[in-house]
Amino acid sequence: MTRLLTATDVARIVAAKGLRATFDELAAVIEADLRRWPQFEKTARLASHSSVGVIELMPVADASRYGFKYVNGHPGNPALGLPTVMAFGALADVATGLPLLVADLTLATALRTAATSALAARVLARPDARSMALVGNGAQSEFQALAFHLLLGIDEVRLYDPDALATARLRRHLDAVAPALRHLRCASAQEALAGADIVTTLTADKHRATIVAPSMLEPGMHFNAVGGDCPGKTEFDPAVLRTARVFVEYEAQTRIEGESQQMPSGYPVTELWQVLTHTTCGRQHRDEITLFDSVGFALEDFSALAWLAWAAADAGVGHELDLIPTLDDPKNLFGLLEAAGAAAGPLLPRHQERK
Ligand code: NAD
Repeated sequence: MTRLLTATDVARIVAAKGLRATFDELAAVIEADLRRWPQFEKTARLASHSSVGVIELMPVADASRYGFKYVNGHPGNPALGLPTVMAFGALADVATGLPLLVADLTLATALRTAATSALAARVLARPDARSMALVGNGAQSEFQALAFHLLLGIDEVRLYDPDALATARLRRHLDAVAPALRHLRCASAQEALAGADIVTTLTADKHRATIVAPSMLEPGMHFNAVGGDCPGKTEFDPAVLRTARVFVEYEAQTRIEGESQQMPSGYPVTELWQVLTHTTCGRQHRDEITLFDSVGFALEDFSALAWLAWAAADAGVGHELDLIPTLDDPKNLFGLLEAAGAAAGPLLPRHQERK
């Protein structure tokens, strides 16, 4: 049987565990998987674009588990009453191909993205960073603010979104769950960035925007660029990338989808796993400007699925799902029809038989 975790199940697991433990555990699982990077069979995700959004399939496998995520990105969805990003995924046994887990990954995407962002900032931002600008206050923003607060000790977030209601919702949630995290609403991205140690960009728009311009840079800033994650969808003036040292998840994918799509092919980028395994260094000095060009890689979802499988079993949450047939004789697939037909009537009524 395959285990099913619905959106409600995933929320129950996280609520029971608490956000601190969730972020701690997720970040640890993602870091452990990134450290064994060469063991994974990797590929850039397969994207199907339309004029209003994108639908993507994200597969990855190691020697024992295969995972994939289905995810969309439709910036116009909130106006239709749907989230911009929705996702589900599966984890399967490599030895047999048996699907072990099917799970909603909408909440898990926000959690794993925030955990990965914080993991990258741990090695790329200045260790004494305490203040973060958060530009784009939509569905992902609470998770980013809280991961940086809980995992890095960020104690002030400077918020900007042209949608004042989005910022108000975020502030209400932060007040409720993290009263020690100061937050203030800014009138522009420029105002939010002024004096911030870390800058997280989380906007959704299917075009080349300039959220961050060279005039906004300050020595030692770390940029966590999350919103530009599709061809033709960026948030940074390319001059910012020329000033910063750029870090990515999986180079082959980021060069197509990330801020790095604006740069020539020989432009140097460093994959995060190389910093985590000390193959190369992270931040080199206090004044260096670093930029994590995050687009979201399948391995983060593989880690999230593995974590969910474990956490669900531990909490006794989930449902047995009759997703694929259970057969007494594995060659007798037709027997399934006979069993169903016995209840519903003859499979091929006499008058339809070929004479
Ligand atoms: P959302 O639609 O819920 O929120 C986006 C917010 O951006 C909205 O509140 C909107 O008003 C705001 N915005 C739009 N233009 C802006 C501008 N010029 N300045 C400031 N704010 C602006 O979307 P979401 O689910 O929060 O996702 C945000 C972005 O992050 C999307 O582009 C999504 O594709 C991306 N994302 C990336 C990853 C990753 O792994 N890198 C993971 C999840 C989502």
